[in-house]
Amino acid sequence: MKLLAALLLLTTLIASCARQAEQKYTLYVFGTLVEFTLYGVSKEAGDEVMALVSSGFQARHRDWHAWERGKLGELNKAIRNGNPHKIDKELAELLVQARKFERLSGGLFNPAIGALIAKWGFHSSDRPTGPPPDRAKIARLVEAHPSMENIAVKQGIVISTNKAVQLDFGGFAKGVALDWAAELLKRNGIKNAILNAGGDLNVIGRHGQRLWRVGIRHPRHWGVIASVQLQSGEALYTSGNYFRFKEHEGKRYSHIIDPRTGWPVDHIISASVLHENGALADAAATALSVAGPKKWLETARNMGLTQVLLVDSNGGLYMTPKMQQRLSINDREAKIIEVKDPFEKDS
Ligand code: ADP
Ligand code: MG
Repeated sequence: MKLLAALLLLTTLIASCARQAEQKYTLYVFGTLVEFTLYGVSKEAGDEVMALVSSGFQARHRDWHAWERGKLGELNKAIRNGNPHKIDKELAELLVQARKFERLSGGLFNPAIGALIAKWGFHSSDRPTGPPPDRAKIARLVEAHPSMENIAVKQGIVISTNKAVQLDFGGFAKGVALDWAAELLKRNGIKNAILNAGGDLNVIGRHGQRLWRVGIRHPRHWGVIASVQLQSGEALYTSGNYFRFKEHEGKRYSHIIDPRTGWPVDHIISASVLHENGALADAAATALSVAGPKKWLETARNMGLTQVLLVDSNGGLYMTPKMQQRLSINDREAKIIEVKDPFEKDS
């Protein structure tokens, strides 16, 4: 009898350990590996929900790809040819979000500049090589003023008044996909998880007794520049010109393009945004990289952001006061530049 009780206790203990276990999964979407850590779930429950996430990611990867064949590619072709084109509900919602973020950022985030991004060689999985594109060609693409404002969707039919519009959602699709995955996990009973796409992340719940603690990658050295504890439902996105770029004769050309000039931004190393909406945080990190040290605060205010960190090319750290309160800075040599609250009026 004693033996049976001991056995029972042991199996219960093992079962509760399994329940508390961490399950890890790695999926690939939009050119990045996304690591999922589900906390306090069994392997069976984790496997089941992750199969749904995986098929959803595959569909989104295919449908929203900026240069491979898929639904977005078909739409871009129709726009180039001046034809109306039928799209599905999800793509229509993405267009609405894209327009909203372009407006909020005053056009610094502009997902209609796909032709410019392609011209710079970033519509390829390999690192582009060779000299910058022809100046006159870049100027012509800028003067054509592609914008989400040129696009109208009526009863699922897209009409563009500007043939120069080419959609590229690379600046915020990851955020949209991770937001979607986090919602799906929650709907399927997952209470604690972190979704990490190479430092762009969403969290749900906590990691046991403590909150999820995450790092922001140092743009110039190996390691993290700062770390922060995230509350349930928060997302942290970073854009930078240190990871994806083109290099020619010792000069680096970032994959973040300033829509006003058609040239890659070079003043910023990285911009990080903490917000509850991952799609907005992703778009905003790209917009703030374009805005740079002179315009970032104004752009942050217009986009409704209070938690932002920027690192400039001299290693200077610009932070909103709320971000500064939350971050633990790891870099002892960091030069912290005092800034005002974005919602305080400029004097
Ligand atoms: P990452 O993909 O490294 O996280 P971002 O979120 O900043 O970085 O996305 C960069 C991508 O966004 C580029 O590869 C390009 O597809 C697209 N992009 C570049 N410049 C802009 C811009 N000004 N507005 C909107 N999208 C942009
Ligand atoms: Mg982005």
